[in-house]
Amino acid sequence: MKIIVQKYGGTSVGTPERIIAVAGRIKSYVQKGNSVVVVVSAMGKTTDHLIDLAKQIAKSPSPREMDMLLSTGEQVSIALLAMALHDKGVDAISYTGSQVRVMTDGNFSEAKIESIATDRIMKSLEEGKVVIVAGFQGIDDEENITTLGRGGSDTTAVALAAVLKTRDCEIYTDVDGVFTADPRVVPNAKKLKEISYDEMLELARLGAGVLHSRSVEFAKKYNIKITVRSSFNYEEGTIVMPKEEMMEKFVVSGVTAKTDEAKITIWNLEDRPGIAAKLFGRMGEAKIYINMIVQSTGHDGKASISFTVLKKDLAKAMELAEKLKNELGGSAVESKENIAIVSAVGVGMLSSYGVAGRMFKVLADSNINIEMISTSEIGISCCIDGKFAELAQRVIHQEFVESAA
Ligand code: ADP
Ligand code: ASP
Ligand code: MG
Repeated sequence: MKIIVQKYGGTSVGTPERIIAVAGRIKSYVQKGNSVVVVVSAMGKTTDHLIDLAKQIAKSPSPREMDMLLSTGEQVSIALLAMALHDKGVDAISYTGSQVRVMTDGNFSEAKIESIATDRIMKSLEEGKVVIVAGFQGIDDEENITTLGRGGSDTTAVALAAVLKTRDCEIYTDVDGVFTADPRVVPNAKKLKEISYDEMLELARLGAGVLHSRSVEFAKKYNIKITVRSSFNYEEGTIVMPKEEMMEKFVVSGVTAKTDEAKITIWNLEDRPGIAAKLFGRMGEAKIYINMIVQSTGHDGKASISFTVLKKDLAKAMELAEKLKNELGGSAVESKENIAIVSAVGVGMLSSYGVAGRMFKVLADSNINIEMISTSEIGISCCIDGKFAELAQRVIHQEFVESAA
């Protein structure tokens, strides 16, 4: 029995007509003799609407109830897709995350999958059914409903491919594959035929919303071949694969931006061993995720530190930063919400030089000031003013992708 896992995102199942079209596509795979496991997201912008609804009811809704609420979006789409398949004469059954025991930790809204039972899915597949599983949701060991973080249905799909021991996982979305930049921001972006796990992981972490980063981590760990493609046409899409299997290696294969972070600066902290350890240790204890960090060179026994946190944690992080400023001899705390972190990613950087200099130059030529810089083996990121987020992506893309072609 050849099992394939397919995931259809929100736009792909956004209307009744789309759900019927997706059912038609699934039917064609069934007719070719495949056993198909389908993961679906909530219809269109349902998840956003549910979040808005909660905000109208309470200022800070309970995380448990929030996950209870958000998981309903996927429950609607799995049932409708099953009905659409039945209507086409295809036997199908839908399951929620809890029904197939997608077990997660108890970290509401960002839960991690720990295991998935396969017995119920396998039994239904053996009975000749298409199995439809709700994406983005699971349960913790006290049977509370949890969700996996925005965009988490991708991770449900790849985790299912791993436990069902198939290498094939197709992620159907509203663009033709993974592009060299978000095609909605950079009109000249090109579709990539293939991309390595490491590049895709870096791009996803740095803001490319096309895949949930944890799905790429799973794919790398279990050697699953993800194909990202459109549910609106039959183009080939992009294959996410090990870099050893790749034919082409670009210096920069993707440009992206992250706009969900904010910057905090603590001025004139004492410049002595242990200050950064204390500052970031306490942030960690408060479960505040830190991304970029820069420390100024010490002067007169004082040094300033800037770092970025998720916007959603800003109020909490500022409160703590104020306290730490007083404890660690700082003079002031400042925050800036409208920032963007723009990045260029490519495995080819491992064997090239001058990439950072070129990136800084095109930003400078556009009069964009760089506020922080960080690098990894295959990526360079610059923190800039948020108003330049789109322009920066376009000029970096122009330099590395369009001019290189
Ligand atoms: P789905 O609901 O199918 O999961 P998403 O909205 O989560 O869809 O992801 C698809 C979107 O990701 C595209 O519409 C596109 O605007 C955006 N995107 C961002 N970066 C990229 C990229 N490098 N390549 C392709 N799409 C990207
Ligand atoms: N419906 C969820 C979201 O909008 C999960 C997903 O689409 O992958 O984030
Ligand atoms: Mg998505």
